[in-house]
Amino acid sequence: MTIRLRGHHLLCLLGYRGMGYSDDFCTNMTIIYETLRTSPHTEVEIVIGPDDVCKAYPPDKAYHCEGTVYGLDAAVLAKLGLSANERDSWQSICSRVAATMVPEDISRLCTTCPWEKYGVCSEGVGLVVNGQPLPKVGS
Ligand code: SF4
Repeated sequence: MTIRLRGHHLLCLLGYRGMGYSDDFCTNMTIIYETLRTSPHTEVEIVIGPDDVCKAYPPDKAYHCEGTVYGLDAAVLAKLGLSANERDSWQSICSRVAATMVPEDISRLCTTCPWEKYGVCSEGVGLVVNGQPLPKVGS
């Protein structure tokens, strides 16, 4: 199984705690998160543009999967040393996060994201940096 992810969603997944844009969006995100959490050898393919998270974005909400968010994708990939079309395990991607990031990077990178203020993404980076496991969704 390969999960297709764009750059910034590598970080969003670290902070996913069950919140999202709709029930269907959260169902899909929880499957992706729990697959990666429980099977960290799962292969991730880096894609440019809409990915396996975006495919569940609710059609009745303002679409934001194209446009300025590409800049955030590029900034995250540059920070982690990843490129489009590259494949790597989730475990290895977390190792890249641990080697290159600090929790404060989230507020520096994600300046326009409405979820940033909840602090869950910086907390997720902190867990990975400290070698601690990500929590089960809903725990
Ligand atoms: S602050 Fe927003 S864009 Fe940044 S990692 Fe969290 S959810 Fe993703």
